[in-house]
Amino acid sequence: MAAQMTDAHRRFLQVLMSHGIMEGSEARKLHKHCCEVHNVYYAHDKLADFISTINRQLQPLFMQIRKGMSEDDGRAHYALVNLAETEITKMASDYTENELELFRKTMDLIILSENGFAPSTDILNLADQLKTKKMKKKEAEQVLKAFVEDKWLSERNGEFTLHTRCIIEMEQYILSNYQDVARKCNICHSLAIQSQVCESCGIGMHLPCIRKYFRAQTEPRCPQCNDFWTCDIP
Ligand SMILES: [Zn+2]
Ligand SMILES: [Zn+2]
Repeated sequence: MAAQMTDAHRRFLQVLMSHGIMEGSEARKLHKHCCEVHNVYYAHDKLADFISTINRQLQPLFMQIRKGMSEDDGRAHYALVNLAETEITKMASDYTENELELFRKTMDLIILSENGFAPSTDILNLADQLKTKKMKKKEAEQVLKAFVEDKWLSERNGEFTLHTRCIIEMEQYILSNYQDVARKCNICHSLAIQSQVCESCGIGMHLPCIRKYFRAQTEPRCPQCNDFWTCDIP
């Protein structure tokens, strides 16, 4: 028989909802904490079962806790995902129309870029080209800040990429809307935004996946075409 939803599960869900996304070790700690507080059976290796019990309850609501990987360090993350809306309309209640247009255009830049990053100057240059309503640069800067705070984008040295939460939440949307350009990682088969690409055959791999894969190889060769891997191993 499937495990019942208990107060421990409900507490876990509430905390995850308030965070939006949680790193794997945080989620494991929270799992333990919730079980202890509510006197529910706990085993450290049962987080996946614990989450699937919650997911069964979330199913009729078209929501799901989904596991994904940070493209920076390869660590697991858990995010609460809304399955009912597979587009950027998920964000619609939080942002105005021209803010959403700026987000879409930023996403285009990031996905079409070589390395998965869009320089802030390129994004800010879009502000006065928006079709819905033009934005001043200052305004656009504030909007970008909000996207980072709300975990849709993350920023590094003046460049923006998609936040792990955004990737987990929008993976399907991106794969179907950017079919010709969005890449899947050759190692883990998930969407790869920040990646290195084989110069010979064009496959892409996440940086953490590359690190892991080449650690076990004597020579860095492409797993697909076996040509020498010319990018610097991250
Ligand atoms: Zn990967
Ligand atoms: Zn190759």
